[in-house]
Amino acid sequence: MTNNTHEIIGVQQTTCCIVGGGPAGVVLGLLLARQGISVTLLELHQDFDRDFRGDTIHPSVMEIMAQIGLADRLLELPHSKARTLKLNSTNGDIALTDFSRLKTAYPYITILPQAKFLDFIATEAQQYPNFNLIMGANVQEIIEEDGVVRGVRYRGHGGWHEVRALLTVGADGRFSRMRQLAGFEPIKTSPPMDVMWFRLPRKSEDTSGLSGRVSNGKMIVLLDRSDFWQVAYMISKGAFAQLRTAGIDFLRKSLVELVPEFSDRSHLLEDWSNIAFLSVESSRLPKWYLPGLLFIGDAAHVMSPVAGVGINYAIQDAVVATNVLSEPLKRGSWHLWDLAEVQRQREFPTRVIQWFQELAQKRIIARALNQNQQFTIPAFLQLPVLRDIPPRLIAFGISPVRLNS
Ligand SMILES: Cc1cc2nc3c(=O)[nH]c(=O)nc-3n(C[C@H](O)[C@H](O)[C@H](O)COP(=O)(O)OP(=O)(O)OC[C@H]3O[C@@H](n4cnc5c(N)ncnc54)[C@H](O)[C@@H]3O)c2cc1C
Repeated sequence: MTNNTHEIIGVQQTTCCIVGGGPAGVVLGLLLARQGISVTLLELHQDFDRDFRGDTIHPSVMEIMAQIGLADRLLELPHSKARTLKLNSTNGDIALTDFSRLKTAYPYITILPQAKFLDFIATEAQQYPNFNLIMGANVQEIIEEDGVVRGVRYRGHGGWHEVRALLTVGADGRFSRMRQLAGFEPIKTSPPMDVMWFRLPRKSEDTSGLSGRVSNGKMIVLLDRSDFWQVAYMISKGAFAQLRTAGIDFLRKSLVELVPEFSDRSHLLEDWSNIAFLSVESSRLPKWYLPGLLFIGDAAHVMSPVAGVGINYAIQDAVVATNVLSEPLKRGSWHLWDLAEVQRQREFPTRVIQWFQELAQKRIIARALNQNQQFTIPAFLQLPVLRDIPPRLIAFGISPVRLNS
């Protein structure tokens, strides 16, 4: 929390100030605006463009989109659909998760650039006169008065601005500035892997969909993006520096060992600037709120990339926050227990999926990355009675989240 020492060139009053225009913030902005609540959404960047930030829309999100009448229009945007995640290893192929068996109108993962999704939702929200999106707003201070958060200060067009709000929501992602300003420290766990992301062209004769390959201590996940492959190359935690020393040519060779079809295009990985490195972490805040301030999405809990659930859970947080907080915000006053209720409803599902990710990291990924051990697919994953649990958990969490109105 900080005292103002700047010249403020503009002050705005709103009911809910949301910091961060990622999936959590943009969806929350739309859902509150639909309820007639005055919302100001502050986003650091000038646009939503981002590479390798997760481009997956899960069935639960599609159902929420259907609830607000946007699913059909969303599916008109260019996208691909992944119905299964197949894992190819030396002991055969297995459908690790099969979404096509789920009882939903959307039994697949929709793969759609996140920037397009955010643009779509923000454009929809901008139809409401009570929704105000400010791009290029770098929030740097929290306004606190009498122990209550009353809004934020940001550096934006022309200098410093203030947004005063009944409620402020920190949806500013895994490196949350808001969390730091509030003095909140997440509880972290350290997953056993890191990920390198890159893209390679996809040819018409290639396979399609979502698949994984494991061999000789290496593991890769391939996402079919129509004209290119989005590749997640998993490595043991801390191995990136060693790999860089070994050189890009070594990486190309390892890649071709794992995916021989890429022998005709691995040369397109010219240097390390083609590779985006993600240090994998998983964390959650012990407390998601303070008087006048609530955290949602990655700011409240960073998910491991296992099963790509970060967007899904961020949007589910936004839906629950809307369900719980719409009436207090319309009324013009909140109680601390309203904010606590959002955490109460979302913390348990978050802990369950993080536990599931930890299990997958230990039982599948750490084994796959162990060069001294022949990788075998864990037997429990092949039991018919258990095989529907992972897709259901990934697609919906422990129970589907729905919008109350
Ligand atoms: C490399 C990578 C790959 C991933 N792949 C997947 C995947 O396949 N599927 C999946 O579901 N998830 C994936 N994720 C995770 C997913 O991107 C996040 O879980 C999700 O975006 C979280 O949404 P959010 O809205 O909480 O935060 P974010 O998407 O991080 O959005 C936060 C926003 O806040 C803004 N911001 C930050 N600081 C400030 C500030 N001071 N002032 C104003 N605005 C600010 C940022 O610019 C950003 O737009 C991946 C993440 C990474 C890093």
